[in-house]
Amino acid sequence: LYSSNIGKVKSQKYVLTKYFQGEPKKSDFKIIEEELPELQDGEILTEAEYLSVDPYMRAYMIGYKLPTDMIGGQVAKIIASRHDKFPVGKYVAGSFGWRTHTICNPEAPPRLGFLPLTLLPDLSPHCVSLGLGILGMPGNTSYFGLKEICKPKPGETIAITGAAGAVGSHVGQIGKIMGCRVIGFAGTDEKCDYLTKELGFDYAFNYKTTNIKSALREAAPDRVDCYFDNVGGEISSTIMSHMNHYGRVAVCGSISSYNDATLPKVTILQPAIVFKELKVEGFLVNRWFNRWEEGINANLDWLKDGKLKYQEKVYHGFDNMVDALVGMLRGENTGKAVVKVK
Ligand code: NDP
Repeated sequence: LYSSNIGKVKSQKYVLTKYFQGEPKKSDFKIIEEELPELQDGEILTEAEYLSVDPYMRAYMIGYKLPTDMIGGQVAKIIASRHDKFPVGKYVAGSFGWRTHTICNPEAPPRLGFLPLTLLPDLSPHCVSLGLGILGMPGNTSYFGLKEICKPKPGETIAITGAAGAVGSHVGQIGKIMGCRVIGFAGTDEKCDYLTKELGFDYAFNYKTTNIKSALREAAPDRVDCYFDNVGGEISSTIMSHMNHYGRVAVCGSISSYNDATLPKVTILQPAIVFKELKVEGFLVNRWFNRWEEGINANLDWLKDGKLKYQEKVYHGFDNMVDALVGMLRGENTGKAVVKVK
C-alpha cells in the first residue's frame, strides 16, 4: 500500500513566459525541471499519464502575471503514497497543470476556481483518459449545463454549437436520452456525419458551408427551445433569433473569440431576448462542485448502458502539449482532445 522510499523525483512543467496574439506558439513557453520535496504523511506522489488540452487554457493565457505555470487537468497514476485511501497503482484526476509529477494532499480543498481531486473508479475496459472527458470536467459541464440551465422537456428542440467537441457531442447525447430533438453545428462534414450516424443527432450542419437560417428553418420548423452555446459570435445571434417563447440559453463557452480579440461585435440580441422572453444564463461547471459525483455516476451509468458514446483525439508526448492545444483550437478533434504523456 505505502511506498515512500522512491527517492527524490524530478518533475517537468510548462511555464508560460510570453503574451501573444492569435495562436499560442512553442516559443511562448519554457519547460522547466524541478526537484520535488520529500513525501509527507497524508500526501501522494503522482505521475501524469494523460494531460488535458481545453479551450479555457487559451482564455487563461490573457491577463495573468508572467511567468506563470500552465493550469490544466490530468489523469495521473499514484506512484508513492502516505495516504491509506489513495494507494499506489490507483489513478486520480486532478487540476495539477501541465506537469509530469506532482505531490499533493488529495483531501486538501481545491484552490479557488479549480476542480476537486477525484480517485477514479475502475474504468476498464475503457481507458483512464475518460477521467478528462465524458467522466470528468467536460462530462459534468454537459450534464449540469443541460439539465440545470436548459432544463429541456421531452419533445423540445435543442440546438448545440461546437457540437462535435467534448462537451457538444455529450450534450447532444444527453438531449436524445431526455427525449428531445437535437440539432448540432460543427466544422466539417465528417464531424456532422459522426453526429447523425453514430450519436443519433437528428440533424447536423457544417457551420462553415451552411446558411444557418435555412438550416434552422429545415431542422427546427417549430423553432428552438434550448440553445447550448459553446462558441458565441454571430451563429449564436442567429440561433437565438430562431427560438421559441421562454426558450433557455446555456452560455457555456465562446471559443470563436478566444484566439481573436479583434472580432466585430455580434448583432443586437435584446429584441429576441425581450420579445421571446428568453432566459440566457452563463455558467461555470465549478458551480456544481458539491454534486460532482452525481454527474460522474450518471455519465458512467449511461456509458455502461451503451447510451453514451465517445471519441478521443489523442496527441502523443509531453513535448507536444502546445501542438495539441493549437490542434484542438483549430478543430482537429472530434470528442475530447488529450495528450498521452509517454
Ligand atoms: P471542444 O472539444 O469542443 O474543442 C474545441 C472545438 O471548438 C474545436 O474542435 C472546433 O470544432 C471548435 N471551434 C474552434 N474555433 C471555432 C470557431 N471560431 N467557431 C466555432 N467553433 C470553433 O472543446 P470543449 O468541448 O472542451 O469546450 C467547448 C466549449 O465549452 C468551449 O467554449 C469551452 O470554453 C466551453 N467550456 C465551458 C465550461 C464551463 O464551465 N462553462 C467547461 C468546459 C468547456 P469545429 O471543427 O466544429 O470548429
